[in-house]
Amino acid sequence: MMPDPAQYSIGWENVPKGRCVICSSELKDRGYYYCLKCGNVTEVEFQPLGGGPKMIQINPVLFLADARSKCCRADLEVRTRITCSEKCHKLFVRALTSQFGEFKRVVDQTTEKSYRVPTKDIIEKGLKWRDLARYPEWDNNPTQRDDNLAEGTAQ
Ligand SMILES: [Zn+2]
Ligand SMILES: [Zn+2]
Repeated sequence: MMPDPAQYSIGWENVPKGRCVICSSELKDRGYYYCLKCGNVTEVEFQPLGGGPKMIQINPVLFLADARSKCCRADLEVRTRITCSEKCHKLFVRALTSQFGEFKRVVDQTTEKSYRVPTKDIIEKGLKWRDLARYPEWDNNPTQRDDNLAEGTAQ
């Protein structure tokens, strides 16, 4: 039987303590950010988004920003962990998806366009500003046919 995601709350307060956000056990490996130019462990520098805010906070640990390595100002590989195991990671994704919905509407502040981004991608890949355009645009005025809409034309 699958556990009900609603039973699991995410312990965001565990992140700075280096504990799993699902089961609170101590993380043996919290992971690092790696600079893709020199290959070293690095700190992150957040670049302002085209004159907009420096970063957009999606939840207490996930940010949408153009992040660069402090050492070389190059791209990063993010290998950080906030869960202790594959099992806790799955529960974490499920809990977040039930909380935020399957898709998240993310607005590109520079173009005002909004995109339909799977919550799972934001969690697992980390979302960078320049990746946004790879996602379909969020349709404000749906032109797709609504299958449930039964047009009544007859009396
Ligand atoms: Zn855990
Ligand atoms: Zn570097």
